[in-house]
Amino acid sequence: MREALAGLPEYRAGTSGPATRFKASSNENPHPPLPGVLAAVAESAASMNRYPDIAAVALRERLASHCGVSVDEVAVGTGSVALLQQVLLATCEPGDEVVYAWRSFEAYPILARLVGARSVPVPLLADGRHDLPSMLASISPATRAVLVCSPNNPTGPAVGAAELTEFLDAVPADVLVVLDEAYAEFVDDPAAADGLTLRHARPNVVVLRTFSKAYGLAGLRVGYAVAGSQVAGALRSTGVPFGVSSVAQAAAIASLAATEEMTERVGVLVSERSRVLAGLRENGWNTPDTQGNFVWLDLGEHAETFGARCENAGLAVRTFPGEGVRVTIAEPDANDLLLHLSASPL
Ligand SMILES: *Cc1c(COP(=O)(O)O)cnc(C)c1O
Repeated sequence: MREALAGLPEYRAGTSGPATRFKASSNENPHPPLPGVLAAVAESAASMNRYPDIAAVALRERLASHCGVSVDEVAVGTGSVALLQQVLLATCEPGDEVVYAWRSFEAYPILARLVGARSVPVPLLADGRHDLPSMLASISPATRAVLVCSPNNPTGPAVGAAELTEFLDAVPADVLVVLDEAYAEFVDDPAAADGLTLRHARPNVVVLRTFSKAYGLAGLRVGYAVAGSQVAGALRSTGVPFGVSSVAQAAAIASLAATEEMTERVGVLVSERSRVLAGLRENGWNTPDTQGNFVWLDLGEHAETFGARCENAGLAVRTFPGEGVRVTIAEPDANDLLLHLSASPL
């Protein structure tokens, strides 16, 4: 085996067990698929003896019009995690460097190591935000890609449009900036950066989005990238042929047709997010602003104690020992349970 596989960190998926009443450990959408999706899936499933469209043209056309770009600026993959792997495959030779904020999405160190790149993690600020000036200063001649996670998983804050513009203006043109916007649909802060706007006239920026979170298709595995045609083409070249199944393509197309309902459902989750955040702060908890469908409890050494309290009460959460606990905004009963559990001291 390649040396990179020795000591590869394991991806720890959010878990649930027999005692779980609510799964709030993987930032999934608590709602069932959007109207029309199950019917589209059933229809597509009837011809599963055929290979899918290898170029996913129908889906890419709809994404292009959804995002206001051309079809050659869109690539699709089996989740945005796969597209991130494709980005790194397309840009990194062994020994090259990938800069990203930390703590952030746990796939970053794994995928960087898998392609033979060296990780350059840059600590978050105390309030859970990206430290873009330090990330900029960490770019070296060996840097091929910089990953910006906005909103940041697991801490929650989004990157501001003004600070990101300044950052993009300063990054060398031959370094690819990856804007991982898995939670873009949950952002309601008007000052937050929107990758689709900021990438205009910047061929070294790629925006990654997904159907896994707001659209509720996590189990089907489909995400997309928007980038200049050179980068988007490289992403299409580095994907596994026929990776996105015909069923997933059909579900994504039907989900886009239900964007209005998606927006309504997301609105409900966003107002639950405000309610939970206010309740946690009222109870005296240290939790940063969040623009995703989750909250971060900055508990340090108490993380495991609170994580266990939640698990014992049937609320599956994501515990980062020694750091904090991430809890997905889920159905109102789950959110009530979190508030109840946070009402008594550790
Ligand atoms: C959930 C998530 C993804 C998306 O994963 P998929 O592969 O599309 O399911 C990407 N980035 C971050 C930061 C995430 O939290």
